[in-house]
Amino acid sequence: MTASIIDGKIISAEVRAEAKLEVERFTELYKTKPCLAVVLVGENPASQVYVRTKSKMAKEIGMDVEDHIKQKDISEEDLIGIIYELNNNKRVNGILVQLPLPDHIDSRVIIDAIDPKKDADGFHALNVGRNSIGGDLLKKSFVPCTPLGCFLMLKRSVPNLAGMHAVIIGRSNIVGKPMAQLLLEESCTVTIVHSKTKDLETITRQADILVAAVGKPLMVKADWIKSGAIVIDVGINRVESLDDTSKTKLVGDVDFANAINIASAITPVPGGVGPMTIACLLKNTVEAAFRQQN
Ligand code: NDP
Repeated sequence: MTASIIDGKIISAEVRAEAKLEVERFTELYKTKPCLAVVLVGENPASQVYVRTKSKMAKEIGMDVEDHIKQKDISEEDLIGIIYELNNNKRVNGILVQLPLPDHIDSRVIIDAIDPKKDADGFHALNVGRNSIGGDLLKKSFVPCTPLGCFLMLKRSVPNLAGMHAVIIGRSNIVGKPMAQLLLEESCTVTIVHSKTKDLETITRQADILVAAVGKPLMVKADWIKSGAIVIDVGINRVESLDDTSKTKLVGDVDFANAINIASAITPVPGGVGPMTIACLLKNTVEAAFRQQN
């Protein structure tokens, strides 16, 4: 068996195109563009790249973007002040604080200072709670962008996920836990495994859906995967290129080259989950803009 490739570039382009139509509809209706405020603290090069890409893609679909770039020694109090200003600014519909923040700032305090109605990343405790309760409350919440992207990809492969056994490797608040909630909401049987799990491979081999969100290059071997499983690889790991050791390349958490012979469908890295994350941020922001008008 050779797995079909779940192409994040294609699906994310569709999600962005849908978001663009929604931006146009919003602009036509309310004579103003949806606006995303992006807050970046410090000079982490990866964060700078992410923020530039997010801003560029938001502008490409017709949104307004406000970048708030702050020195790394900004106090927690001053950063909260900026968040409150953005909360009160009627022009701003979505607020994104790029993580990680410097060590002297408590990320949880900053995220929970964001107005939950403008929480485009879906990390605010109120949105986390609503996602956990599920049902109708999902209509009021925002789902974190990476698991939302994984979920949209999965739904394109298998529209009805009910009864499938989903195994998620990783229990972070930004990927593993919200992914589990989304799949539980779809009536999957969900198992989360993590660094303290015993005999991990025995559990992953039972998965109809395997989501790897670990951050360990090529950790998930082909013989950890059940024949015909759908594999979603969230990991983004930079490693030395074997062809030219002076260069680096991106790989996922899954041994893609061998897993492709076992799985029925698989996401590649790069070009899988990665592009979906920003597309879902744009989707959440335009959704926030509409909800604020109602
Ligand atoms: P975290 O470091 O927050 O979480 C990693 C999880 O993996 C933890 O729950 C940890 O367990 C678990 N883990 C670590 N080692 C093992 C192991 N040997 N066996 C089983 N479980 C293990 O990472 P994130 O969730 O933030 O990110 C995961 C990966 O996804 C990273 O590569 C990251 O770069 C990528 N990512 C990609 C995004 C995208 O847009 N595509 C967005 C966000 C993340 P424990 O809790 O016990 O420590």
